[in-house]
Amino acid sequence: MVGAGLAGLAAACHLTGRGYDVTVVERENIPGGRSGQLVKDGFTFDTGPTVLTMRDLVADALRAVGAELAEALPMRRLDPAYRATFADGSTIHVRYGHEAMRDEIANTCGSVDAAAFDGFVDWLRKLYVVEMPNFIDRNFDSPLGLLSSPRAAAELLRLGAFGKLGNAVRRRFRDPRLHRLFSFQAMYAGLAPDSALALYAVITYMDSIEGVWFPDGGMNAMPVALAQACEKAGAQFRYGAEVEAIVRRSDTAGVAGVRLVDGEQLQADAVVCTLDLPVAYDKLLPDLKPPRGAADGDYSPSAVVWHVGVRGLPGPEVAHHNIHFGAEWGTAFDALLKQGRLMPDPSRLVTIPSLDQADAAPQGCSTLFVLEPVPNLSGQVDWRTETAPMRDRLHQFLATQGYPDDVVTEQIVTPLDWERQGMKAGTPFALAHTFAQTGPFRPPNVERSVPGLVFAGSGTVPGVGVPMVLISGKLAADRVGRYLPIGR
Ligand SMILES: Cc1cc2nc3c(=O)[nH]c(=O)nc-3n(C[C@H](O)[C@H](O)[C@H](O)COP(=O)(O)OP(=O)(O)OC[C@H]3O[C@@H](n4cnc5c(N)ncnc54)[C@H](O)[C@@H]3O)c2cc1C
Repeated sequence: MVGAGLAGLAAACHLTGRGYDVTVVERENIPGGRSGQLVKDGFTFDTGPTVLTMRDLVADALRAVGAELAEALPMRRLDPAYRATFADGSTIHVRYGHEAMRDEIANTCGSVDAAAFDGFVDWLRKLYVVEMPNFIDRNFDSPLGLLSSPRAAAELLRLGAFGKLGNAVRRRFRDPRLHRLFSFQAMYAGLAPDSALALYAVITYMDSIEGVWFPDGGMNAMPVALAQACEKAGAQFRYGAEVEAIVRRSDTAGVAGVRLVDGEQLQADAVVCTLDLPVAYDKLLPDLKPPRGAADGDYSPSAVVWHVGVRGLPGPEVAHHNIHFGAEWGTAFDALLKQGRLMPDPSRLVTIPSLDQADAAPQGCSTLFVLEPVPNLSGQVDWRTETAPMRDRLHQFLATQGYPDDVVTEQIVTPLDWERQGMKAGTPFALAHTFAQTGPFRPPNVERSVPGLVFAGSGTVPGVGVPMVLISGKLAADRVGRYLPIGR
């Protein structure tokens, strides 16, 4: 296994649980990859995902190695999942539970939209039930694989999944604030709501309906728990070990193992590689042509993340996750996605883990994660000159939104940093989920010219985000199982 990010850890758990001898080789000194941790001046920051949804997928990986979620990774539900603020000064909370959310909509947007919520949830559930087994949690050998689920495809057509997400939400609700609240999740797939297919409403289902969780000890507790459970079940972990090549057999061209930068060679009958896929080809398989789209596809926008430890505590109105929608919407997405410019009047996410994790900040202080979507490195922004002004704007924004802003420590992460960490186009969100880069059209998780080499992670199927990469790890384990049946 190359990489102890969430995809690699999920694959390692599923393979170890099925009886394979697994060695995980990770260049950093801790597990997690993008879901890492930064400790600075008494503050603890999660460096990547903050919104944890679909916790059953983490439970599946843990269960594969005989561990139970409740013991290995205790967590609490966040309710509200989000506090959303709008340019007119109003607020809507995304509440957990159908009744609670319907009441919230009735109180903030009126009874017509509250009634529409019932039909919306019903639609989301139906989409999820069809998509998950047929198109997400599934290995495709070719696009023809789509034809094996004609009923499911017909059902998606009937549900309007191939229309646009923005339209689907607008048709159901009157209040424009709900249009934003129930479609901004397209951004997680690297798309504007008006160009994303309605089938991506499953992301809205995952966070707004299934709910958002926060592990005790922070988000990095999740990879730590997966690594510990996997190690306990027999897998070996080599941290601080960087792979420089995937080694192939001279006779069959099949995979033979990996070579580390210090020259050590580790033998393996199969290798699961979880680097960002185009970077894996570029660095570890330079003689092979990457699959269509991996090198020159459409990459998702990126993000600037400002990790900031401040003196003071937020007011009682502040939630764990706070989305601040700007006044602009369509024009903001056009700037970001079409023109490669910063969003005018951007929407931003402020997450405050110290509200639910006391040791994340010293007494009387708070740990803040401030995220602004920005173009990836194919855009027009020069981060050598734009980083300092961006930092000052984010600081100003904290002050105007009433957050504590007396900075004790900070670190800003820009697309240049994501690129340095090994992410194509300087985005941690991989290939965008356009139709042509989704399901069987996304770069596949096997390299046919190298039998035994399997990929996992956000650059391959099913895609980006914690739930998707956990599934990708399981799909990779299934591929290995097919190539190397246990007991052979
Ligand atoms: C700022 C940010 C916010 C996000 N927010 C969310 C969110 O709220 N919710 C959500 O669901 N998702 C979110 N995501 C996306 C999610 O974090 C990623 O999709 C997921 O963590 C990617 O996991 P991965 O295993 O594919 O890749 P990685 O985590 O990148 O794992 C790859 C691993 O390989 C290691 N590696 C690289 N090169 C080598 C080498 N040569 N040798 C050995 N090891 C190597 C790396 O160190 C790393 O550990 C966010 C991501 C970021 C960065």
